[in-house]
Amino acid sequence: MAASFSEFMDFVKAKNPAQPEFHQAVDEVVESIWPVLEKRPEYRKAKILERIVEPERVIVFRVPWVDDSGDVQVNRGFRIEMNSAIGPYKGGLRFHPSVNLGILKFLAFEQVFKNSLTTLPMGGGKGGADFDPKGKSDNEVMSFCQSFMSELFRHIGPNTDIPAGDIGVGGREIGFMFGQYKKLRNEFTGILTGKGLNWGGSLIRPEATGYGAVYFAAEMLGTRNETLKGKTCLVSGGGNVAQYTIEKVLDLGGKCITCSDSSGWIHDEAGIDREKLAFLMELKNVKRGRVKEYAEKFSGAVYTPVDASLDHNPLWDVKADCAFPSATQNEINVKDAANLVKNGVYLVSEGANMPTVPEGVSIFLDKKILYGPGKAANAGGVATSGLEMSQNSLRLSWTREEVDQRLQGIMKAIHKAAFETSKEFGVEGNYVAGANIAGFIKIADSMLDQGVV
Ligand code: NDP
Repeated sequence: MAASFSEFMDFVKAKNPAQPEFHQAVDEVVESIWPVLEKRPEYRKAKILERIVEPERVIVFRVPWVDDSGDVQVNRGFRIEMNSAIGPYKGGLRFHPSVNLGILKFLAFEQVFKNSLTTLPMGGGKGGADFDPKGKSDNEVMSFCQSFMSELFRHIGPNTDIPAGDIGVGGREIGFMFGQYKKLRNEFTGILTGKGLNWGGSLIRPEATGYGAVYFAAEMLGTRNETLKGKTCLVSGGGNVAQYTIEKVLDLGGKCITCSDSSGWIHDEAGIDREKLAFLMELKNVKRGRVKEYAEKFSGAVYTPVDASLDHNPLWDVKADCAFPSATQNEINVKDAANLVKNGVYLVSEGANMPTVPEGVSIFLDKKILYGPGKAANAGGVATSGLEMSQNSLRLSWTREEVDQRLQGIMKAIHKAAFETSKEFGVEGNYVAGANIAGFIKIADSMLDQGVV
């Protein structure tokens, strides 16, 4: 048994070589919970830590499909069933060319603690494929999704594992996968979340991650008797999370002045108002275009293409009050974090998963800014997926207001749990420690109750 934190990390790295994102995610959680382990020897004796970093099951499979030219394509599909101590596996599917085992294990590991924080009975999982939906026709996306589900259907079920969307998986992809599952199983059941409203989806699910990240920001500001009214905000990404973050910031009286995609970023000093947001949504969700077109449409907005030779992202080098990273992991490097603080940003609420490198997180914590880590700040998405599951089981649909109120209540509860736990462990306002410890204790106690399984 590892005697120290660094010995434990050596063990994790040796056992899981070439998975740097997974090491990063484990490192952050285990560092936070080490003081708890020292107080609770029963966790060490039961090897909770050694068990929690080992997925309960990993499924890897071939996904062959035929493109529009009649050529056969082959992708790799994955599902990581990480931990089911507090409920069936729950977590998104990511379709992106960068997807590999280590990235999905980091996401699944984060998901376990995030789901625990939501107050709902959901275990953690994650999956996806190294498939790039960008530039593919609807027919090609359908062909891929059907092939993907032709294997995945054996492993999931409404009481076993309920996937959802993530990068590259939105309403269109969920629809194609749901259709294929139903055909194979001859069963209409709540097997995926993020479904269309006509066939079992929940109101507010598309909005939930972005709205939740903004509600979490509002809670953090509340600890300093402040609100989002009049605040200038930086947003990265231009997809699901970014779009609804911008919408909720507008609702609460703030102004977002940036957005991006993997090709470049937009700086719109006048602010992304509702008309411009509607354009962005149509551009991204229907036309499947690039953010560059935003600057072509709206004078005053400046587009800058990605410059791979830079050692920082200029999107994070703009004067503002708040930042909502909403694109992908490690998108804020250490220089970006320093630039944010230098430019006056004193609140970071992470819509994306693990968007800040560890040295960047240290800067935020040292400067004592309001920093909401992804596993707390973006938990509104999976929480509303949990609400979709409840509605499916009850065979009824709640109103928009009802779901939104529950979402707000859950984000408040997550904030409270993380804040109070940080206080209890002597690091008041450190939401990283608070979220990790609060999420961990519930899972660890459930694992103890259920024996060595
Ligand atoms: P989308 O696919 O809808 O949008 C992703 C956005 O980020 C796109 O603008 C995309 O640009 C950009 N992006 C993706 N990868 C990269 C990259 N490697 N470099 C630069 N830009 C990139 O995904 P979501 O909005 O759903 O997800 C965004 C983040 O939020 C992810 O970290 C995800 O894990 C996290 N998240 C999502 C939840 C959800 O409910 N959807 C729940 C919790 C967390 P491009 O169009 O060029 O690819």
